[in-house]
Amino acid sequence: MDLCNLSVIKSVMAEAGITFRKEFGQNFLTNRMIPEDIADMCADTPDRMILEIGPGIGCLTQELAARYKKVVAVEIDRGLIPILSKTLAEYDNITVINEDIMKIDLAALIKEYSEGMPVSVCANLPYYITTPILMRLLESGVKFSTITVMVQNEVAARLAAAPGKSDYGAITASLGYYGTVRKLFKVSRGCFVPAPKVDSAVVRIDLFDEPKYKVKDEELFKSLIRAAFEMRRKTLQNAISSCLGRFSKEEISAAIKAIGHDELVRGERLSTEDFVNLSNILSNK
Ligand code: SAM
Repeated sequence: MDLCNLSVIKSVMAEAGITFRKEFGQNFLTNRMIPEDIADMCADTPDRMILEIGPGIGCLTQELAARYKKVVAVEIDRGLIPILSKTLAEYDNITVINEDIMKIDLAALIKEYSEGMPVSVCANLPYYITTPILMRLLESGVKFSTITVMVQNEVAARLAAAPGKSDYGAITASLGYYGTVRKLFKVSRGCFVPAPKVDSAVVRIDLFDEPKYKVKDEELFKSLIRAAFEMRRKTLQNAISSCLGRFSKEEISAAIKAIGHDELVRGERLSTEDFVNLSNILSNK
């Protein structure tokens, strides 16, 4: 069954008596080459578990199951569960779990299903919570090897932006702490039903095997990034001093100079490494 075929999508949903739920960001793929390409590119070796977020009616899930040893798919919409049990019936390496990815215990889930294999994440993400899902995955403490996600094109540009560019933001600087990001390909809005208002793109994050940076105080590191981008128009010095009252302007200015930047620099010019160095200097104050 071609789960990207528009008539198939409509008929399985009508049969189950459900319609697309906007509040769950349901835009299903209608071009089968896209899930094939995503599944091909999301990981390097077949002996692994893939965690899929939001299988929908299962078009990407079946491509993942054909390529990788185990697929665990977490879907929030319980109306889709009976559909998935039919569309994925022929695969014995897929487990579907009816849960909210923002609430599920990720460490316990991986422990239960991965059997010690490397774990990659692959998803056509619901756009309404792209960043919270990414941050939850990254901050979970679970050692994912890759995270490949389809997101809005502008979000993809933000995730992969270089410091100083207009797309560079808090999420870019934070991501750099965990791994490297690459935009794989663009997907036009016409490849979905219902069609979203914007185009999409697929990005792959390769997580560092071992932490690349040593951060003495993770909370401070995160607060500095937050401060820098919440007050983008201010100099970094003023942004930090307004958001984190515990440092004097002199301490902040000295730390900014010590990492090799002008004291009037704006936060958006700092790389992840700069934020690491800045937080390590300030954590000694
Ligand atoms: N994978 C399908 C495809 O590519 O056609 C569907 C992708 S659709 C953009 C997003 C999917 O994520 C929907 O099936 C939606 O119900 C599900 N979803 C939304 N929020 C979720 C959450 N918090 N936890 C798990 N699944 C969620």
